[in-house]
Amino acid sequence: MYLFRVILIIAAIVLIVLIIRKLVGSSRPATRRVTDSGHMVQCAHCGIYIPESDSVPDGDRRFCTEAHKLAHRSK
Ligand SMILES: [Zn+2]
Repeated sequence: MYLFRVILIIAAIVLIVLIIRKLVGSSRPATRRVTDSGHMVQCAHCGIYIPESDSVPDGDRRFCTEAHKLAHRSK
């Protein structure tokens, strides 16, 4: 009866490890998708490349900082 309990506990541990691995495995492609979709855009003022999510939009133009957006406007 003792041996049966040990096998049951080991089976439970293996099951938990498999569930954790599945959860970790499924969350990895999600984070990879975010970095892959990080489209690079060029600052219309200084020409530096920045991720689109970090850029400051102004119409159809993109800027690296708010200061460059204002500097480009005042030209
Ligand atoms: Zn810039």
